Parts: sequence; C-alpha cells; structure tokens
Amino acid sequence: MNPSLREKYSRQLLFAGIGEAGQERLAASSAVIVGSGAIGSATALLLTRAGVGRVRIIDRDFVEPSNLQRQFLFDEADARQALPKAVAAERRLKSINSSVSVEGVVADLNPQNAAEWLSGFDAILDGTDNFETRFLINDFAVSRGQPWIYAAAVGSYGLTFTIRPGATACLACLLESRGSPPGLEDTCDTIGVLGPVVNLVASLEAAEGLKLLAGRGTALHGRLLACDVWSGHFQSLAVARLPTCRVCAGQEFTYLHGESQPHVTMCGRDSVQIHERHRRLDLALLGKRLAPAVDDVRQNEFLLRFRVAPYEMTVFADGRAILKGTQDPAVARSLYARYVGA
Ligand SMILES: [Zn+2]
Repeated sequence: MNPSLREKYSRQLLFAGIGEAGQERLAASSAVIVGSGAIGSATALLLTRAGVGRVRIIDRDFVEPSNLQRQFLFDEADARQALPKAVAAERRLKSINSSVSVEGVVADLNPQNAAEWLSGFDAILDGTDNFETRFLINDFAVSRGQPWIYAAAVGSYGLTFTIRPGATACLACLLESRGSPPGLEDTCDTIGVLGPVVNLVASLEAAEGLKLLAGRGTALHGRLLACDVWSGHFQSLAVARLPTCRVCAGQEFTYLHGESQPHVTMCGRDSVQIHERHRRLDLALLGKRLAPAVDDVRQNEFLLRFRVAPYEMTVFADGRAILKGTQDPAVARSLYARYVGA
C-alpha cells in the first residue's frame, strides 16, 4: 500500500478487525448497491469512504426535494436539475474518494438485466424500496451463490440481515413462510421515514459488507437485527434455514424467471413507473415534438420532464417513464402511449 493510501485509511488500518491485510482485500473487492435512496445513499458513502475497490450503484429514479431529508448523497442543486440518482451518486462518490472505481447505472433492476448488473460482485447490498426487487435479488444471489445484505426501514423502524447462500437462511426463509416482520406491511408512502433510522440500518448493513469484502467472514454475526430509533427498542434474532424454502431449498427462482408480477407503483409518491418498454429514446427530439402540446418541458441529458395537468411525466433515455399524479397503471400506460408512443 502506498503512503497516501496508508494515510487515507490510517484509522481503519488501526482497527484490528481490518488491518493492512483487510484493507488490501477491500481494495481488491467489489460491491453493487441496488437503489440509491436513503439506505443505498448512506451505504454507498460508507463503502466508498472505506476504500472498497469497485462500487456500482443502480437506481431508476431522479432526485426530488422530498428526498433531501434522508438521502445523504444529494443536495438542492441535484433536485433542481432533476438529476438521475445514479448520476448524482456517481459524481458525489467520485469527489469523495477518487481511489475507488465508482459507476452509477440509471436502470430499473428486473429479471432481464439482473445478470448484466449484478454478476461478479463480491457483495450485493439492498438499497431498494420494495419487496419485488428484494425477492429478485434473493433469487439471483442464491442461484449464483453471491452473498447479499437485506436492509429496510420505514417510520422509525428498520432491519437488516446478511444472506450467504448455502450457509444462512435466505430472504424467502425469513419472509415467505411467516409473513412480514412487524412494520414491513407499512411503506414510507403511508407512515413516512426518519433519516436517523435509515442511517442506522445503512451503518449495520455497511459493517456487514466490510466484513464480507475484507475477508472477515468469521466476524459476521448471522443475526437479523431490528431497531427502532424512536422507542429505543433493539432486537437480535436468530433465523433458521427453512427446509421447505422455495428458493434456497427448492431452487425455484420465480422472481428471476419473471413469473411474478412486476411492480409499478413507487414508494413515497403518488406515482407509477412504466418499465416494460425497452428502447432508446431521442429525448431532444421528443422534447421538441411535445413542446406545443404540454407544459413546463424541462430536460437534461438523462431525462425529459413535462406536465399534462394534473399529471407530471418523466421519461428516461432507456424508454422508462415515471408518471406522477396517479396510482393507476392503466392511466399511466394510456398517458405514455399518447405522449411517448406505443
Ligand atoms: Zn431460503
């Protein structure tokens, strides 16, 4: 390790659980974070600052003012420009630690692109806001034997659990048999979410990530950790593998094979995502064509946004769109067909 890196990571090198050998392992390791919202932002910051060699962050959404209360990678300028979160995240993370290879990917993780975006990473970290994507990650990770870390938060409550295929329970062992743990039927749409709990959960997730990536697997605690920053209630629970688990026992990867319904509604907003169209759009051309027919056309190199009262539509270059002002997929599809094309 050269002297400048030794200086940069000096406090982490002094920590016995990492040391110089652990730091070198970190520098040679890779992590992919799915979702760059609150938990994904904080996890990405922690892993990038810690010197993980390669960090990929995948996100489908753009920055809005309501994100800034808890999404620590973004600022008001990002929200004003409506930058895709993956783009803003990549810029910020690169400015924090230029020793790390950072890549932001503007995409919606789905069964068709999971292998392209997740293959080959030493750890997959959960920064998503929905269970369909988590079960897709779980199917993929178990089918490939890649470790991944589940993390979720809503209100003042959060939890995290590290999944090592073949060694621990998986997400389906945990959730499909006994229903959701308390609180998870709520979403940040209905009861909100506090910045402190997402940072706490992200810290627990990132610490587990550092153990995996630094080659300190024996330090993994193997427990489901749950915490509530408002009540001060903390729990650490053992989770047994389920002999009849669909995924890790039965090897039935229904989410990965696209047999489960794709999600269309989005956490935290009155919005629907149209994501079944996979095609490149010329946003500049589309913006010119739409200008006479719609209001408030704004665009940057990544997306085009306009208003058709009472709706607001944001179209991405990969053909996806987010329709704000409705939770009805049929309304969203009809608006998409009318303004973007079938
Ligand atoms: Zn399982």
